[in-house]
Amino acid sequence: MKQCLKCKRELDESCYGKDSSRADGLQRYCKDCRREQYRQRSGKGKEHLLCYTTKALLWALRQKGVNVKINYINNQ
Ligand SMILES: [Zn+2]
Repeated sequence: MKQCLKCKRELDESCYGKDSSRADGLQRYCKDCRREQYRQRSGKGKEHLLCYTTKALLWALRQKGVNVKINYINNQ
């Protein structure tokens, strides 16, 4: 058993990811905490759409049956 530094739960070693740079070979935070950390860092759900390129976004929408037409407007 090993205590997570973040949530302070005593968890089985299998609940921790591997980290060869550490003495016990395990990460300090349990997988739940790692996942939570990753989610916060990668942003909230709707913001992930910004990761799409325009082409990939159009493709994804069309896969869902959305008919998309984009008019490119140059206001300058
Ligand atoms: Zn934890």
